[in-house]
Amino acid sequence: MTEIIRHEITAGKLIKALLATGEARESLFAQAAETKKQEVGNIVYFRGLIEYSNICRKDCLYCGIRRSNVNLSRYILSDDEVLEAARFAYDNGYGSLVLQSGENSSARFIHQVTKLVREIKALSGNKLGVTLSCGEQTPETYRKWFEAGAHRYLLRIETSNPDLYEFIHPPDNQHSFKKRIACLQSLKEQGYQVGTGVMVGLPNQTYSDLADDLLFMKEFDIDMVGMGPYIEHQQTPLSRFNGELLPLKDRFDLTLKMIALLRILMPDNNIAAATAMQAIDKMGREKAVMAGANVIMPNITPGVFRNSYKLYDNKPCTDDVAEDCKSCLEMRVALTDHTIGYNQWGDSRHFNVRVNNL
Ligand code: SAH
Repeated sequence: MTEIIRHEITAGKLIKALLATGEARESLFAQAAETKKQEVGNIVYFRGLIEYSNICRKDCLYCGIRRSNVNLSRYILSDDEVLEAARFAYDNGYGSLVLQSGENSSARFIHQVTKLVREIKALSGNKLGVTLSCGEQTPETYRKWFEAGAHRYLLRIETSNPDLYEFIHPPDNQHSFKKRIACLQSLKEQGYQVGTGVMVGLPNQTYSDLADDLLFMKEFDIDMVGMGPYIEHQQTPLSRFNGELLPLKDRFDLTLKMIALLRILMPDNNIAAATAMQAIDKMGREKAVMAGANVIMPNITPGVFRNSYKLYDNKPCTDDVAEDCKSCLEMRVALTDHTIGYNQWGDSRHFNVRVNNL
């Protein structure tokens, strides 16, 4: 395959690259690796992931923590548990953490997150970067959390095709593609570094959809991306889809190609190696790093709760504790010829260029 020229990328070229095999596939990964090295360097940043709560008002047809799933106990971590995890992240040199949860817009939840963000900033002398991933909220809530000290926000669009979005969500106004877009827009206006992403290998998803997903991220001028393979969760309606579905290993390979293409399309973006990659392949996150990702999110949720935050089946590391994740990841990153950016926020260079023209 000849080199992909960034400014000449079209949906057709992306589809061709997504279908590449053999030498063409290898050259795609080689180009992505070279682009990363040149643009952001072979550095991996850690974000300690705290799965704050699995209480969710949404009922997404693919997600294990959907409101209608009665087969799991619902939890919300105590402030002490969150702060202890934050301290672990800080003491171990993780530059940032991510507070992620199901979607909850109760006044109490909003207040609690605001307070926690402030306390995390305080306990680390403002040194820990805080990313939030708590779903759709009002612009006022986003502003409140930003003022409290959060500076990055992850909200996956899940798919940029509105019809497919409708197919994987229940038909009510709680699950609206337009609202999701409006939230991404609002996050940008508030001044966050904004992350989005999609699931790869969804039922009824086409190669053309995936190419459009990449173009959507470029068009939206997103700063950070997290893409992972769709993995069935047996307690969800979508797992009973009886049409054609790509085998898991093909969804994995396609995700690697999506990462590589995004790196070429948006060279200075932060791209996460999603945990779902590791659910399919033991070396999944390392392979994602080799394909162009530069962020890994080690799980620092207290062990007992990890099993209750199961978005999909075969979630890895549910029996580990945070210390295990750290030593395991250090070894794994060393295998990829990258260094770890300890004690740094590792902000998206794209954001700095977009906002500050740096
Ligand atoms: N509720 C928050 C974040 C929690 S879910 C939000 O909406 O942003 C985090 C991500 O997990 C989702 O955005 C989705 O892309 C992914 N996810 C959920 N179910 C999944 C599944 N079955 N397979 C793969 N990824 C899944």
